[in-house]
Amino acid sequence: MLPEHCQKNDTVPPRSTIDSLLARLRGLRPARPFRLMEVCGGQTHSILRHGLDLLLEEHANIQLLHGPGCPVCVTPAAYLDRAIAIARLPGTLLCTFGDLLRVPSGASGDLFAARAAGARVQTCLSPLDALDLAGRNPSLRVVWLAIGFETTAPAHALALRLARERRLANFCVLPSLFLLPPVLCAICADPDTAPDAFLAAGHVCTVTGPAPYEALAAELRRPIAITGFTPEEILLGACHALRLHAAGTPACFNAYPSAVHPGGNPAARALMRETFVPCDQVWRGLGPLPRSGLALSPDYASFDANALLPPGTLPAPAAAGGAGADDAPACPASKILRGLLAPPDCPHFGGACTPDTPLGAPMVSPEGPCSAFYLHRPRVTSSARPPAPPRISRRPPAS
Ligand code: SF4
Repeated sequence: MLPEHCQKNDTVPPRSTIDSLLARLRGLRPARPFRLMEVCGGQTHSILRHGLDLLLEEHANIQLLHGPGCPVCVTPAAYLDRAIAIARLPGTLLCTFGDLLRVPSGASGDLFAARAAGARVQTCLSPLDALDLAGRNPSLRVVWLAIGFETTAPAHALALRLARERRLANFCVLPSLFLLPPVLCAICADPDTAPDAFLAAGHVCTVTGPAPYEALAAELRRPIAITGFTPEEILLGACHALRLHAAGTPACFNAYPSAVHPGGNPAARALMRETFVPCDQVWRGLGPLPRSGLALSPDYASFDANALLPPGTLPAPAAAGGAGADDAPACPASKILRGLLAPPDCPHFGGACTPDTPLGAPMVSPEGPCSAFYLHRPRVTSSARPPAPPRISRRPPAS
């Protein structure tokens, strides 16, 4: 099931709102294609579901690129090998978000198959559910798979603090947490292929506040618009990215002020600082990136489930693989996640590679860009886009 913020996108905004936004976009239309990347799986789904990419190309010469915004997709295969090995340990209950169950590991199948073979794997909606299971089952060792971006890290952090307060010695976590600013830097490493601007995910910035993206826009010399998930919020974000680009202003604009406040969520950030420290991280499809993840802080080292496996039994997630090493050799995930290839233009899209038989990172979760295209445009290639207007299309007035 898609996250709640995706389901809310079923609401079609008033026609006047869309007309007004498209008129603003037409007024900003650049002569050459403007490459705008979103890095949020929820936004990717909303864009494809409502045909916003087609609208933006038609009205404003904007080419939308779909970056590495799905945390399940970028979770490295080696991490899942470790999770499955831990799930097989006697007396262990492995708890996870449900969308990790079908994600292929490097060499151990997936969690779903591990459960079918007898491992104890339980899906939970929240790390606090796993914490409750630990409290109610003192004879079991409960291991929580703490994955995600800055959005979900505070919930993992809260579970850790509560576990310490409750002296739950049978609760631990296997972290695979990602920070978005470093991956945007990596995507911009080649100025010839870097996007012209980014849409930053509103829910991430609700936690962090706009400050990290203000610094990043200046560093990358590219505009960043913080935006939400509905069609009108995404179109508004595109307007501001284009406006800043046209003005030659590499700044960050908060187009989602109803949720993103200066300073973000101070309580959440304090929890994250208490429980986690920055670390190098491997991104599935992109390889290792310095200081792009979070590991447990020294104060919480006793909750680290990595210690359950003898050293050297499996590669540590932070040490495994280079770009694309996690995926099938034929999968061009690193090009997809950098916006250099559109999912439908991959030769495996919809054939050898589907959500049921994913070859690579962008197809493994419902929030991945290949999976989103498969769901909403299964028979469309980027070079043969449909002539029919999308669901909320508003054509410009005839001249
Ligand atoms: S369609 Fe499959 S093989 Fe092609 S890039 Fe996407 S995940 Fe990789």
